[in-house]
Amino acid sequence: MIRGGATDLIYRGRFAPSPTGPLHMGSLVTALGSYLDARSHGGEWRLRIDDIDPPRQNKASFESIPFCLESHGLTWDGSIILQSQRREAHERALSKLRNAGYLFACGCTRATLGELGACISDCRDRIDIEGSVRYRVPNDVPDLFDDLFLKKPRVSSLPKNFIVKRRDGLIAYQLATAIDDLDEGYTHVIRGGDLLESSLRQMIIHQALGRLSPKYGHLPIVTDQSGNKLSKQTGAPAVDLDTPNANLRLALGILRQPNPPKYMDCVEDILRHATINWRRDVLAF
Ligand code: GLU
Repeated sequence: MIRGGATDLIYRGRFAPSPTGPLHMGSLVTALGSYLDARSHGGEWRLRIDDIDPPRQNKASFESIPFCLESHGLTWDGSIILQSQRREAHERALSKLRNAGYLFACGCTRATLGELGACISDCRDRIDIEGSVRYRVPNDVPDLFDDLFLKKPRVSSLPKNFIVKRRDGLIAYQLATAIDDLDEGYTHVIRGGDLLESSLRQMIIHQALGRLSPKYGHLPIVTDQSGNKLSKQTGAPAVDLDTPNANLRLALGILRQPNPPKYMDCVEDILRHATINWRRDVLAF
């Protein structure tokens, strides 16, 4: 079994939004959950903007995301980290993984890919291919791992391989995040439950590099009325900046945390109460 191995004695956590639009309630829940888990353990909480996919990015969100966090009292330690600045480290990790035989080039198009977007053709046996770069997942990957909140994280089946560098030359999310989470020294990664399979892929990359993964905790997924996950790309409404107290109370409810007393009417008091009363054990979903 692959385990998160970082020690509990120190704590450095992060919130790592992609700048693809303003924060919606789902992202506020993730920001708040990762903030409270860090602060209630006396930890640091960093903000990294995952800006490695320019075609999908929205310029305004580089400002609107930090502004929204600050409006809710969610202040981070240090300066904002931009994932795009880490390109050299990502390329170095790719070379290591390539030299160790984990990668292969893939020339498939959407039409020729198999289940879960995996390459199922003979790309890995050819040397003449220009295309994406894929990571070959070993056969003995467990489907369970320790989680700070979930008792039995259920990971649906992983594809046999996944993209680490895209056809257009951009570094893929899995690789960039796996490397940055190690290099930036996070001991804990608290993120949405929709990223469970991604966490496993990132742990597989950590293992291949001989490094210990952070501990992972997956939070409840926030859905709309038809049960679809709230997402910036599908136009989930932006958090209303005129009602930060109510937004925090709503997010705390989604995280199954106690509602701070009604007389608390500023974000600082609400967050102080929420930090003191933070409970991990109610978060299993
Ligand atoms: N930037 C990604 C997102 O906003 C990933 C976050 C993470 O790695 O926790 O979904």
